Amino acid sequence: MHPELWLIHKPMDQKILANNSTNFIRNVINEDLSKGKYNKVITRFPPEPNGYLHIGHAKSICLNFGTASDYKGYCNLRFDDTNPSKEDIEYVNSIKNDVRWLGFNWDKEVKFSSNYFDIFYECAIELIQKELAYVCFLSAEKIREYRGTLKKPGKNSPYRNSSIKENLSFFEKMKLGEFKEGECVLRAKIDMSSSFMCMRDPALYRIRFETHHQTKDNWCIYPMYDFAHCIGDAIEGVTHSICTLEFQDNRRIYDWTLENLDAFNKNDRPHQYEFSRLNLEYATTSKRTLKLLIDNNYVSGWNDPRMPTISGLRRRGYTPASIRDFSERIGVSKVNSLTDISILEAAIRDDLNTNAPRSMAVIDPVKLVIENYTKEKIELLKAPNHPQNEEMGSREIYFGKEIYIDKADFQEIAPNNKFKRLAIDKEVRLRNAYIIKATRVAKDKEGNITTIFCTYDSDTLGKNPSDGRKVKGVIHFVECSKSIPAEFKIYDRLFLEANPSRFEDMSTIINPESLIIKHGYVEPTLKDAEVEKSYQFEREGYFCRDNSDKGLVFNKTVGLRDTWNQ
Ligand code: ATP
Ligand code: MG
Repeated sequence: MHPELWLIHKPMDQKILANNSTNFIRNVINEDLSKGKYNKVITRFPPEPNGYLHIGHAKSICLNFGTASDYKGYCNLRFDDTNPSKEDIEYVNSIKNDVRWLGFNWDKEVKFSSNYFDIFYECAIELIQKELAYVCFLSAEKIREYRGTLKKPGKNSPYRNSSIKENLSFFEKMKLGEFKEGECVLRAKIDMSSSFMCMRDPALYRIRFETHHQTKDNWCIYPMYDFAHCIGDAIEGVTHSICTLEFQDNRRIYDWTLENLDAFNKNDRPHQYEFSRLNLEYATTSKRTLKLLIDNNYVSGWNDPRMPTISGLRRRGYTPASIRDFSERIGVSKVNSLTDISILEAAIRDDLNTNAPRSMAVIDPVKLVIENYTKEKIELLKAPNHPQNEEMGSREIYFGKEIYIDKADFQEIAPNNKFKRLAIDKEVRLRNAYIIKATRVAKDKEGNITTIFCTYDSDTLGKNPSDGRKVKGVIHFVECSKSIPAEFKIYDRLFLEANPSRFEDMSTIINPESLIIKHGYVEPTLKDAEVEKSYQFEREGYFCRDNSDKGLVFNKTVGLRDTWNQ
């Protein structure tokens, strides 16, 4: 799409859309139900198992499963598995897992388009018998040439008028593997001068000598999406078949196919409705491009936390609720837009701000020694798990003579009066502990600070200094001997450009700093942190434990506030 045509979907749109819990699809459903066209709402989510699901699919899942459930109907999970060359059972399994993780349940067992291969075949025979389909031996190139252009009508294929008998026999031979791949296709006989290019005798079946993950080598002819999809919907009694806008023209084939098949040409047959796909800033929702990112080692796999895949977002610390909330916030429309990534980040931040327990982690540590604190003494202090929610309880943290603080929280000389961190001769409060004052530093040969020396005021635990001194700054820390080393993976946008689809060569816009690894320390309570469970590391951001066998590794989900739109 031409970049100028993109409407940027900014967070301010949220208000309009969030209140808009009704959308044009619901309007259609309401009307259909009131007219008695259907008495139940049945939808389906139809992924092709040729990759992992991404955030765009999540929008479609929330829409399909969410709408069906709101109307007390149901949604089928149907694998659109008509192209065996790119499909794989690994994808089937990951998709099932992701849909369930998002919190949705499909009706009964999982469906596959390949379950219906016999029926599709019978439908093709019916069309041949009605002189509505024929086997065409033109090469792919000739077919393209004969199709014409938007300005020029197409030309009939010389095979268009073969007899029913000939066509039945050719089609049978296609099925028996007597023709080579590409030698012929079954085509619908519609209208070579239609103003909709897709109606100029579209292909219905093609030959593929490939082993299919479900039907193995039973078939060497495979139906095209446009032919299989509508029949699959009709077999399952789907009422509203919701798909993305690029299928708008193809709706004509959808309707043509069902209207020409006796078993499905009914008043309560399914109908297709299109909505605009989600395009997310700084991300790609093209499975092909996501796969290229993996194949070229820009990311470590489908579940790399920088990927906009559901498995990547999960590993990054996104919760199912936050993704559902995001889908709700962006709404459903027919306008192509580029959604501001801050809408997604706001959804997870809002969730974690309420639900993530607090903890302290020092990501870029420097040692700090409290000179007036008793050597070898360790105190246990109480820290709340959530400042606003007492029900989340509290934990014990350690305090002692030697602690780590973050390098960024100290400067030898405070740059100005507004500096609220630690500096020599300045005081700050250690979060959940005492007030300290820096006195001097030790440095290595290169002049780097190796240790900060301080004194502490023993009468400031949980209270302000008795002499009325005002200490505004608060910094976090962990006690040296009890803290646990941890690795922190800090992620940034994978692309430097908001709309990467505008660039032919993605490699030129990859952010070289999309992953920065730091080594620091966490509170000992995090030793057994659950994988994918998020914490707010105070003053640092939200992090969750990675499923790594290399000790404690935390992935940064998102910062505490949006620093991009400031
Ligand atoms: P392909 O490139 O393989 O066609 P696809 O993105 O269309 O990929 P499917 O597995 O066919 O992937 O998609 C399953 C369903 O998810 C379809 O109904 C599709 O319309 C919907 N979907 C896919 N991408 C998006 C997106 N970015 N936004 C909203 N819905 C999407
Ligand atoms: Mg598709």
